[in-house]
Amino acid sequence: MRLLIVEDEKHLAEAVKELLKKENYVVDVFYDGQEGLDNALTDIYDLILLDIMLPSVDGLEILKIIRKEGIKTPVLLLTARNQINDRVKGLDLGADDYLSKPFAQEELNARIRAILRRKGDITTTSEMVFHDITLDYNSLTLSCRNKNISLTLKESELLQFLITRKNMITPKELLIEKLWGFNSDAEDNNVEVYISFLRKKFKYLNCETSIKTTRGLGYSLEVIHV
Ligand code: CA
Repeated sequence: MRLLIVEDEKHLAEAVKELLKKENYVVDVFYDGQEGLDNALTDIYDLILLDIMLPSVDGLEILKIIRKEGIKTPVLLLTARNQINDRVKGLDLGADDYLSKPFAQEELNARIRAILRRKGDITTTSEMVFHDITLDYNSLTLSCRNKNISLTLKESELLQFLITRKNMITPKELLIEKLWGFNSDAEDNNVEVYISFLRKKFKYLNCETSIKTTRGLGYSLEVIHV
């Protein structure tokens, strides 16, 4: 789970980040509204914690723009006690919940869990299917007809993303962002390594699904009839 925090109170933002990292979330923090917006628009996050009063672009404007762009990432607004109008506006603009500052750690954790649970309700299964393969991203199992094989967490995350994109080509940069995050020192060839692991597993399963490389563009799933 990758979380985005857009909050200009640096101490608060960093404290929340540390707290959420302890809960095993991957967390990116931006203090500026425009930077927060640009990153929210990449659509790589599972949840956005959004402050309202921000430099350059305020939180409600960010919310309005991302919803207009069709980004459905759940948003938890971080509001000051006296911002009742803003809370109402925020919920009307498509925020999922709000939390008044200052808040207790336990409450933040509980609200995040509740939002992610609701989000999870839309897809009640942990299985994803593409042609003849089925990925169970909870048990990290990839199966094809009656054969199955275990995946590592990174392999599963990579394959989940490719399945979500169906036949679309996924640029390598997007995979790096999604799997390792911004400012990570992961080299491009890390992606290649995981792609090659997955290809070996596809081969073992003897499935008709394979990963196609389009040189200079990226990767996509394709069906090979043998
Ligand atoms: Ca603020």
